[in-house]
Amino acid sequence: MIISMKKGATKEQVDNVKDLIQSFGYRVHESIGSERVVFGAIGDERGKHRLTSLEAQPGVEKVIPILSPYKLASRETQPYPTVLDIGLGVTVGGKRLLIIAGPCAVESREQIMAVGDSVSKSGAHMLRGGAFKPRTSPYAFQGLMQDGLVLLAEARKMYNLPVVTEVMDISSIEIISQYADCLQVGARNIQNFQLLKEVGKTKKPVLLKRGMATTIDEFLMSAEYVLSGGNSQVILCERGIRTFEPSTRNTLDISAVPVLKEKTHLPVLVDPSHGTGHARYVEPMAYAAIAAGADGLMIEVHPKPEEAFSDGPQSLRPDDFFRVMQGITRISAAMGREL
Ligand code: PEP
Ligand code: MN
Repeated sequence: MIISMKKGATKEQVDNVKDLIQSFGYRVHESIGSERVVFGAIGDERGKHRLTSLEAQPGVEKVIPILSPYKLASRETQPYPTVLDIGLGVTVGGKRLLIIAGPCAVESREQIMAVGDSVSKSGAHMLRGGAFKPRTSPYAFQGLMQDGLVLLAEARKMYNLPVVTEVMDISSIEIISQYADCLQVGARNIQNFQLLKEVGKTKKPVLLKRGMATTIDEFLMSAEYVLSGGNSQVILCERGIRTFEPSTRNTLDISAVPVLKEKTHLPVLVDPSHGTGHARYVEPMAYAAIAAGADGLMIEVHPKPEEAFSDGPQSLRPDDFFRVMQGITRISAAMGREL
């Protein structure tokens, strides 16, 4: 932390702040300029008094952190990228991209099998599908719950694709962990700190989706909750944020990809389906995400989007997904990535 004193701070104020920093258990580096005194407080903040509170002391102008507040998620702690093993030979974070595809929600055996069949033939590496759905309306389809997990596991086996599905609350972590390879924490739960602590105790990879009003640093603090719980398998997913622009469901923050890649060693995915809300925008944004350096994509695919129980307008038909995969193959080659 840097503690900058005000221009004209008295000697008494300067000495008082220096004494406080030391009394909090930090070493002090003092720099006396012609106009002001600047202190560097040296030492790990964990378990100690927070230095930011010094801003309330007379004579202090500003307290500036020099290290990120997230330790385990930060590139300062681990400079090389994390590569995670999801299971069934699928990894994320290395040279190989991870393409996750599937319906918004598991609706029936026929539906999830049809999607599993088509997306595996198109080259997807992992199957998605919600069994417990976070819906804005309590009257909307809430998911098949455990029956949906059973169907997902059947498709997993049939098409040899690991599966990811959402955990909405602490009580369903155990049952979902019995069926899924990866636990998704959705945008609406990204600051549900109790849930993050609990998934941090599991041994499953956790896919965290950025909240619709979550800053990148807040998103990384959410990752820190999982990591500090002892689970080092965290994947981040940009899925659009809420802005004033109504043309798309969300505003897909493609710039979050290079920013995240700079700040963290964790793998970064992009979801252009929730990011745009319209099937016709999924293809260009999928390409943009790979070009921006994303480690993979999460794309909604439905055999009959017009009949989907949720998110039909943003779901690709299987043949459209096949075509998008051809484009992804070309863009990934240009980016030096593999599929
Ligand atoms: C989803 O992936 O189905 C979902 C609900 O996404 P989000 O949490 O990003 O809205
Ligand atoms: Mn959806």
